Amino acid sequence: MSDTHDCCQTHRPLANMDQALDLLLSHARAVTGTERVSLLAGLRRVLAAPVVSPIAVPPWDNSAMDGYALRSADLGSDGARLRVTQRIPAGLQGMRVDPGTAARIFTGAPIPPGADAVAMQEVCTPDRGGGWVEIPAGIAPGDNIRSAGEDIRPGTVVIPAGTRLDPQHLGLAASVGVAELSVYRRLRVAVLSSGDELASPGEPLGSGQIYNSNRYTLCALVAALGCEVIDLGTVPDTLEATMAALSAAASVSDLILASGGVSVGEEDHVKPAVEHLGTLELWQIAMRPGKPLAFGHVARTPFIGSPGNPVAVFVAACLFARPFILVQQGVSGPVRPQALTVRAGFDWPRPDKRREFHRARLERGSDGEPEVLVHPSRSSGVLSSVTWANGLAVIAEGRVVHRGDPVPFIPFSELLR
Ligand code: AMP
Ligand code: MG
Repeated sequence: MSDTHDCCQTHRPLANMDQALDLLLSHARAVTGTERVSLLAGLRRVLAAPVVSPIAVPPWDNSAMDGYALRSADLGSDGARLRVTQRIPAGLQGMRVDPGTAARIFTGAPIPPGADAVAMQEVCTPDRGGGWVEIPAGIAPGDNIRSAGEDIRPGTVVIPAGTRLDPQHLGLAASVGVAELSVYRRLRVAVLSSGDELASPGEPLGSGQIYNSNRYTLCALVAALGCEVIDLGTVPDTLEATMAALSAAASVSDLILASGGVSVGEEDHVKPAVEHLGTLELWQIAMRPGKPLAFGHVARTPFIGSPGNPVAVFVAACLFARPFILVQQGVSGPVRPQALTVRAGFDWPRPDKRREFHRARLERGSDGEPEVLVHPSRSSGVLSSVTWANGLAVIAEGRVVHRGDPVPFIPFSELLR
């Protein structure tokens, strides 16, 4: 067993976050079920079979410009005066262009037989009736023609399997005439929140109670990733209730996400419950917020749990659960969030042994250049700091940051879809 595996033992160092994520992802398996869906239903689904173009794109040589299709050999050193014998808008096939003639042609229209170049209209001088046109010299074969198959040859894989489909992928599939896609089945993710203190929004708050926010953060995050959410609500703080909820979750889901109750206090029953029902690895990860992360299996269903502090839940879901979900969904490319490097608009003089994820905002500095600001609160209970933010600034272990230094910034746009 590696050091990172065993780090919950107190004499072990905190697990490095990258190693913990490596280990977590080594347990992620893509679902095997697939289904066929129509193009628009494929948004944010993961492609199970590549999209192969059955056609050439463009399907035929066509004009890249509004202008005149002609035979370049007709042009002498002074150009030529050509008779305009036809008009070819997009969507029509023209007739042969004979020597000494030209076709008025528009962008996207097929090049008529006989023509080998298009003169753009800006350089041509038609006579008043449009029956003749003066073409300048210097137009070479192929000019202003998009050739058949220039973008895509028939049989080309245009979207590989394992791609998570964005709007532009659907457009590309449509452009080669594909109407249905083979995608992995939707991932079923069970969400549960443990805590006797939790009340539901809409209910009056009893004494000692707080509203259950994690349930909504997690369910929405999972839904935004295109998963089917199995919302199991709130679980009381008893071992029996926790075991019952986890067993139920395991039997209907591909992944269980839990918040609260994973520490080692008397009121924390998630850890023993998972140990009873399967296997548990609990890592103390060198990051802030969100030091402990529980990972394991309930029966055979993977389980990821974090303590209940709402900011820690959000950060753990973005940085650990999301990549895990992407792999389970069948994504074959990179699943880790990509950070931008941005100028710091703040000072962070205190080095920390843990990697810090500050709730941060990318803004324009006074000089108009982008810079990243951090929220004054580091408390893992202050959810309003997350809604203030539009990303996370990352401060590496042991690093000090001065205003103006480059600092990694992970935009929420990278984490929440
Ligand atoms: P726990 O990990 O269960 O010890 O909870 C840590 C902190 O998070 C406590 O202050 C809890 O009241 C709070 N908390 C736990 N679950 C939730 C939840 N679902 N929504 C909001 N806060 C929570
Ligand atoms: Mg609790």
